[in-house]
Amino acid sequence: MFEIAHKVQDESRQGEAFTPAMTPDKQFKRLFYIESYGCSMNFSDSEIVASILFDEGFGATRHLQEADLILLNTCSIREKAEQTIRKRLTEFRKLKHQKPSLLIGVLGCMAERLKSKFLEEEKLVDLVVGPDAYRSLPGLIVDVNDGQKGINVLLSREETYADISPVRLNTNGITAFVSIMRGCNNMCSFCVVPFTRGRERSRDPESIIKECRDLFNAGYKEVTLLGQNVDSYYYSQATGTSVPQGGIFHTQPSLSGITLINNDTSKSKVGVPYNSSPEADRCAVTFASLLEMVALISPQLRIRFSTSHPKDITDEVLFTMAKYDNICKYIHLPLQSGSNRVLQLMNRSYTREWYMSKVNRIREVMPVCGISADIIAGFCTETEQDHQETLRLMEYSKYDMSYMFFYSERPGTLAHRRYKDDIPEVTKKRRLQEIVDLQNKLSQQSNKEDLGKTFIVLIEGDSKKSNGDWMGRTSHNKVIVFPKGLNSLEPGSYVEVKVNHCTQATLLGEIV
Ligand code: SAM
Ligand code: SF4
Repeated sequence: MFEIAHKVQDESRQGEAFTPAMTPDKQFKRLFYIESYGCSMNFSDSEIVASILFDEGFGATRHLQEADLILLNTCSIREKAEQTIRKRLTEFRKLKHQKPSLLIGVLGCMAERLKSKFLEEEKLVDLVVGPDAYRSLPGLIVDVNDGQKGINVLLSREETYADISPVRLNTNGITAFVSIMRGCNNMCSFCVVPFTRGRERSRDPESIIKECRDLFNAGYKEVTLLGQNVDSYYYSQATGTSVPQGGIFHTQPSLSGITLINNDTSKSKVGVPYNSSPEADRCAVTFASLLEMVALISPQLRIRFSTSHPKDITDEVLFTMAKYDNICKYIHLPLQSGSNRVLQLMNRSYTREWYMSKVNRIREVMPVCGISADIIAGFCTETEQDHQETLRLMEYSKYDMSYMFFYSERPGTLAHRRYKDDIPEVTKKRRLQEIVDLQNKLSQQSNKEDLGKTFIVLIEGDSKKSNGDWMGRTSHNKVIVFPKGLNSLEPGSYVEVKVNHCTQATLLGEIV
């Protein structure tokens, strides 16, 4: 399997059964079992689903046998992700036979993409619920119990689940995801996300700050702000609008609210041709101002974000990152391809030269900043020369790590409609392997450059290999393992660690 070395998802978490860290002190009449697949957004959505089901009197279980409701939160990004779900569903057949009252539901992107076709194709499935329809789950469960099939795949222009407090599932109590926006307006030609997750909308900043503050007060030390394209976050306090109306406006964040200090339209956002509405923009919160507001909650709370579209990551965001020590110095900057011709076919709206200048700018503003990328091998018409340009751009950018894929045609996307998926699988896989090999070399080099340096590390828990060692992360997102020693540290502690050795994936150090 070629997507093994570095993937967009943490493969060890794919299909993970989710239960909350603490079961509320309540007797549940019914139990649900949920597995999540795909990106962090899906894992975060499962926590919203859990919250909705808890309110309906459902408790969570990790054991399939005792579940009354089995949910799969699915991903459609590549064909293989969908095949995994189909296969998993067949494994529930016996359970359903043993317990006919058992309900099986499919949530998320695959539900949205296939809609009622799913119910026709997979007779076992009772519920099909798209990413914007989770609030209707309780009603749909009633419908199914009344003998109907339950389906809601309506996409929304407003839904952000802002008022729902996610029930943290499988948490380490230290790091948490906080969703700040949903959907995507970008229409990259290879991507199914705009069709499965709908139009972009941003969540009310007050609810984001409240969620982050509550997490910090509960002992969490790191939040990752999530969205398909976080840098285009935009919320107008005046109108409650969650899509951009004008240029970038500078707001003075404060914990009590948001005060305007400057409305410099000269710093307008790259490629955001929205109609200006002065009233809406005067009180607008951009991604940079949101970052600042979260950073001000406490210097002890680290902030990460994912994922950025290179075209939207502004100087304002970079300067805000540089200004606050607790905003982690790490940017995921998906490349996709290093060839201008392919980038144009992909509808990525930047060139390799523009992307290189963005990498330069990041390093200029933040000399120590981790950079990672997403790369697709074998997109339609990709030549050996295009592929070489991708490899050269990887070398130029010196990524610390990458998520690498071969192109998988998705029905309904622009690429599916316009271009032929003409690169033979064997070529796609060979090119992907070359990309993976180069990334392994770059990761090793990047780690070697950290030898002898000391970093502030947030301890996340025991290392996987030994409970005599801690595992934590540096600000620039490198995993570091070090002996616990005699210190009275615990998960959530910050500690200075000197790097003595490294592997391709991990730094090894000691407390100083
Ligand atoms: N919004 C992010 C961005 O624009 O960079 C990416 C989100 S997408 C869920 C994650 C990654 O999956 C993409 O960056 C891309 O590399 C990969 N991907 C998306 N569609 C794909 C496809 N049809 N085949 C292979 N990889 C794909
Ligand atoms: Fe897909 Fe492009 Fe949107 Fe990312 S920015 S989710 S790749 S359409």
